[in-house]
Amino acid sequence: MNGEIPARKQIGVRGVVQGVGFRPFVYRLAHDYGLAGWVLNHSGGVEIEVEGPPGALDAFVHALTTQAPPLARIVAVQVTGAPPIGYDRFEIRHSVVEEGRYQLISPDIATCADCRRELLDPNNRRYRYPFTNCTNCGPRFTIIRDIPYDRPLTTMQPFTMCPACQREYDDPLDRRFHAQPNACPVCGPQVWLEGTTAAGSRLADRDEAMLLAGQMLLAGQVLAIKGLGGFHLACDATNVEAVLTLRERKGRPAKPLAVMMATLEEVRRHCHVSDEEVEWLQSQQCPIVLLHWREDSTIVHEVAPHNLYLGVMLPYTPLHHILLRDVGRPLVMTSGNLSEEPIAQDNDEAHRRLGPLADAFLLHNRDIYARYDDSVLLNIQIPIPNLQSPLLSIGSPIRRARGYAPFPVRLPFETKPILAVGAELKNTFCLTRDDFAFLSQHIGDMENLETLEHFETTITLYQHLFRVEPECIAHDLHPDYLSTRYAQSKIQNPESKIGIQHHQAHIAACLADNGWLADSRPVIGVAWDGTGYGLDGNIWGGEFFVGGYRGFRRAAHLEYLPMPGGETAIRNPWRLALGYVYALLGELPILPGISQREMQFVRQQVDRHLNTPLTSAAGRLFDAVAALLGIRQRVTYEAQAAIELEMLATSWPATRPGETRPPAYPFDLAERDDGFVIGLKKLFVALQADLAAGVSQAEIGWRFHHSMAEMIVAVCQRIAEVTGLRTVALSGGCFQNRLLLALTVSRLEQTGFHVLVHHQVPCNDGGVSLGQAVMAHFAPTAQE
Ligand SMILES: [Zn+2]
Ligand SMILES: [Zn+2]
Repeated sequence: MNGEIPARKQIGVRGVVQGVGFRPFVYRLAHDYGLAGWVLNHSGGVEIEVEGPPGALDAFVHALTTQAPPLARIVAVQVTGAPPIGYDRFEIRHSVVEEGRYQLISPDIATCADCRRELLDPNNRRYRYPFTNCTNCGPRFTIIRDIPYDRPLTTMQPFTMCPACQREYDDPLDRRFHAQPNACPVCGPQVWLEGTTAAGSRLADRDEAMLLAGQMLLAGQVLAIKGLGGFHLACDATNVEAVLTLRERKGRPAKPLAVMMATLEEVRRHCHVSDEEVEWLQSQQCPIVLLHWREDSTIVHEVAPHNLYLGVMLPYTPLHHILLRDVGRPLVMTSGNLSEEPIAQDNDEAHRRLGPLADAFLLHNRDIYARYDDSVLLNIQIPIPNLQSPLLSIGSPIRRARGYAPFPVRLPFETKPILAVGAELKNTFCLTRDDFAFLSQHIGDMENLETLEHFETTITLYQHLFRVEPECIAHDLHPDYLSTRYAQSKIQNPESKIGIQHHQAHIAACLADNGWLADSRPVIGVAWDGTGYGLDGNIWGGEFFVGGYRGFRRAAHLEYLPMPGGETAIRNPWRLALGYVYALLGELPILPGISQREMQFVRQQVDRHLNTPLTSAAGRLFDAVAALLGIRQRVTYEAQAAIELEMLATSWPATRPGETRPPAYPFDLAERDDGFVIGLKKLFVALQADLAAGVSQAEIGWRFHHSMAEMIVAVCQRIAEVTGLRTVALSGGCFQNRLLLALTVSRLEQTGFHVLVHHQVPCNDGGVSLGQAVMAHFAPTAQE
């Protein structure tokens, strides 16, 4: 030991350090530095004791973080010195369970390059084996029942490793050392293909099942495929009949479907892909990325009707890699569910629920412990034709699930344990403890019992895995939301229930997403969204706030306009167009496909205030304009009319050489007791005049988007004059509209504002639970 007096160090490592090859890494590192001692997993992370020359110990500690394996995410390293006790070797000790302690859990990770190579190598013992994985990739969260992360506590427990797999598992120098889901064709899970007529009607087993599944897909059939966190429905994305059949059976006439492609080269044949998008597509999370769809793509229009973008992902399990290569063309891969229901999870459930939807089932016998949808990422740097230079380069999640959850959002402060139950649509929940916000994976629209059940079991799982006993529950103000009712039923003590206004939660989520400090200056929050329950009993959604985590003051809003028929109007934008124009201009516009009788009915509803709540929601304004322009009168999925309006507006070449952009439509800004109110009468007059003059839908659409962005800038400037605040946080579902977002951000920044947008959690209702949690933490009633 080169003359130095040996010393000992006790080291605790927190973060995602289990199931990611951390112990073998420590083992190899200790050998490299000639240190003795041990490493073990416990419920709170990894513990290490090392003994040796002080110089080597320091180098070892440094290398722990700088050379950690790719999937490890280290949050803290704690080192204490101790006198040496004479270890003679370095060993990996058995895991220790400690009551009440918890650790971060790795999300499921896409198949790594090494495993891909083995999978496609005819000489490898795992050639075409659909469950190939290693320490650097494969299932994690979806198979874990409890911590510490060890095979008996996963759904791999029933599979006993063969001698070859066991050797890999036991060898600290092997890529599969302690890879809990380690498996091979001899000892691991298997696939089979089954008909839909009766459970057990096997068509083929193992590799023959894979080959036959590929043939069926090529023949235009719809398959239900069991994956990592649930089932997909798959079909040939270049076959119109197959796509239409899938849509009809799933009850999803128009909502865009995601497509899986074998390789990046294939993706480039169908989409324009930027460097950042390539990085996201190939990342270990392997999300669906919304890409600019090429005109010459052979993927049929029916996959994403009236859309300029296509949701694309690369294969992320060995099963997908095999299938996509066999088929040799892009496959639609959409959640295996009926519209609205959660993704199907086990084989029996799939037969029951997906039987009528699929022609056959590609099943396997590895159980799924947690449902897990595909994540969706939006690139807000995609060149928008109407902008000369995009200003941002951010991958913003639209749906956060596979690959991301249950990795927490790190908060810039310590919180008490809180459960926030989220919103109604695109529900997620959020559990907090220490400085972590454990945002759940996407749960779904809380409109049926299946989703409620998924919500409840996932809450139980997270509370158990992360050992959180909530002191209070934060919920939306809407009394009829299933999540609100769940909160009401769970806690008796009224002190422990905290209602948080929907749009304020959006802005708080945006702040937490950006690591905004609790004692920072207030911000201007712009929450442009669909509908949410307001503090005055009206339906909010075009809101400007001033404040922070501790609370917000409403500083401005879009003027209140009637929503004839209430919720019905959301599915029928023509009702909004009629209601808005009638309320503002006293006349009823003629809309294609809407009868005189329907028009008069809506007029009576507005005149007599029959089932006609008032709303300030920006999302509804987009709907109303889309209907008024004749783009869409009735929708079959959320925000369809607004999305089609965005697509038309985006396709309008606003920067034709030699032409200046048309000015924004006029609007009013009146000061009232409760802040500024944005008046929309002039906007509708000007828009109607353009329509009457035969200006194209695309040009009016572009001018309207431009006007909405100018409106935000004008209001923020007025608020800044009064408050001196220069930071603007943008949140709410409307900011999934990239034209609106790009126009708004660029203009706000030109005007000297610092702009916060979402990076880690969705700007849509999928992010609301995070905002609820952080606001509940600072709510006065919740403070001792
Ligand atoms: Zn691997
Ligand atoms: Zn084996």
